[in-house]
Amino acid sequence: RLIAPQSSSPNEDSAERALRPRELNEYIGQHRVREQLEIFITAAKNRGEALDHVLLFGPPGLGKTTLAHIVAHEMGVQLRQTSGPVLERAGDLAALLTNLEKNDVLFIDEIHRLSPVVEEILYPALEDFQIDILIGEGPAARSVKIDLQPFTLVGATTRAGMLTNPLRDRFGIVSRLEFYNTEDLTHIVTRSAHLLNASTTPDGAAEIARRARGTPRIANRLLRRVRDYAEVKANGNIDATVAGAALSMLEVDPQGLDLMDRKLLEAIVHKFDGGPVGVDSLAAAIGEERDTIEDVIEPFLIQQGYLQRTPRGRTATQTTWRHLGLTPPSGASG
Ligand code: ADP
Repeated sequence: RLIAPQSSSPNEDSAERALRPRELNEYIGQHRVREQLEIFITAAKNRGEALDHVLLFGPPGLGKTTLAHIVAHEMGVQLRQTSGPVLERAGDLAALLTNLEKNDVLFIDEIHRLSPVVEEILYPALEDFQIDILIGEGPAARSVKIDLQPFTLVGATTRAGMLTNPLRDRFGIVSRLEFYNTEDLTHIVTRSAHLLNASTTPDGAAEIARRARGTPRIANRLLRRVRDYAEVKANGNIDATVAGAALSMLEVDPQGLDLMDRKLLEAIVHKFDGGPVGVDSLAAAIGEERDTIEDVIEPFLIQQGYLQRTPRGRTATQTTWRHLGLTPPSGASG
C-alpha cells in the first residue's frame, strides 16, 4: 500500500532517517506540542534534571519517533530505542534501564503493547528511578533493589485508550499529535525536496502535500515516487502537472485517498447500504486486519468527514457518497 503510514522496508527506514529533522526548530507544524516541549526542555536543562516522562500519541507517521530523537538531542543526552512487543521479559527492560546514563532518553514505541510483567518493572523505575529484580529461583530467590540514573521515558502509541491507567498516570507530559494541514505538509515536502536535491515548484510541492493524508511519512514517500516519475517522464522538475500525473498513476486520488480507503468506503456504501456496520464485519468484507482499520485507515477518513463512528458502527457520510459519484440517500449524515 503506497500510502500506508508505516514504513515498509529497511531501505525506506534509511531514506526516512536522512529526512528526519534533528532540532526542535526544524520540526514543522504541531505548534502546541512544540511550544510545550520547548518550555519543559529548557526548564529541565536549566535545573540539570531529566525531563519529565513524555507520552506521545497519534496515528503512525506523524512524527512521534522524530520527536523522541529531538528531545534527546535538545537535552544533550543519548537515546535508547525499543518497542513494546520486543520487550518480552522483565530482564530485557531491566538490562536497558540499568545501562542508562544520567538524564538519558528511553524511547518505547508501541508502548500499549508492553506485557504486564514488563510494565510492573517500569512503575518503580518511572517513579523512584529504582527497580526490584528477583535473583535466583525457588526458596533461595530474593528481591534486590537497584538504583537507576534519572532518565526520561518517551512512550509512543497510536492509541492512548489502550494504555493501562497506572501507566498513563506516570507520564508528566502527554501530547497528542494531529494530522498536518496542507500548508505545513507543503513546507515539509519543500524541505525534503531540498535535502534530496529534487527540484519542485511551490504548486508541485502543494499538490503532493494535499494528497499525503495529513501525514509527513506519506508526503516524503510520495515525493520520492513523484521524483522518479519527473526524472523519467518529464525534465525532472516537479510542478503541479507532473505531480498530479504521477499521483494519479499511483492511484492516489485528488483528496489523497488511496485504493484501501476507497475499498473501505465502497464496502460500507455498496455492501452495507451506507452503514452502520461493525468494524469486524468491515474487516472481513475488505480482507484487512481490524487493527489496521482502526489505527491506520479510519482516523484520517473520520477527520476528513468521510466516516462517522457511532455506537452502532461506522456510517458513510454524504461526502462519501458524493466522493464515489453517487447520490446520498436522504438519511445520510454530514
Ligand atoms: P511516527 O513515529 O509517528 O510513526 P516518524 O517520527 O517516524 O513517525 O516520522 C516519519 C517521517 O516523517 C520522519 O522520517 C520525518 O522525516 C518525517 N516527519 C515527521 N514529522 C515531521 C515534522 N514535524 N517535520 C518534518 N518532518 C517530519
